[in-house]
Amino acid sequence: MLDARLSGCINHPGIEATGRCKQCGTPFCGACEVPSANGRFCSAVCSEKYEQFTARARQLDKHAPRCGILMRLRILILKLAVWVIAIAAIVYGLAYFNLPGVGRIARALLELVHFYLPQ
Ligand SMILES: [Zn+2]
Ligand SMILES: [Zn+2]
Repeated sequence: MLDARLSGCINHPGIEATGRCKQCGTPFCGACEVPSANGRFCSAVCSEKYEQFTARARQLDKHAPRCGILMRLRILILKLAVWVIAIAAIVYGLAYFNLPGVGRIARALLELVHFYLPQ
């Protein structure tokens, strides 16, 4: 299917095309081909466009891992908050039920928390 469309060069209708532009897909012959580090193109304009496109894609790739770390940090903070709330609930619960021994420790912990937290 691709070969059927690869019949003639866009600039030289009689000459068989040797490849397609990586940017716009235009068929070209060996004389019209613009080779570059990124591949083969029909013109310098397309080569430049493709270079800009890959440069932007590389930049996005560079940003992606940083976003991932931020996301993981946010999840970590959320988990930490849940733990703090859970521990606080347990301490308050123990103090409320005033269990022998454990209740005293819990109340001592609460006093510590109240001492360090501004009311
Ligand atoms: Zn092109
Ligand atoms: Zn040509």
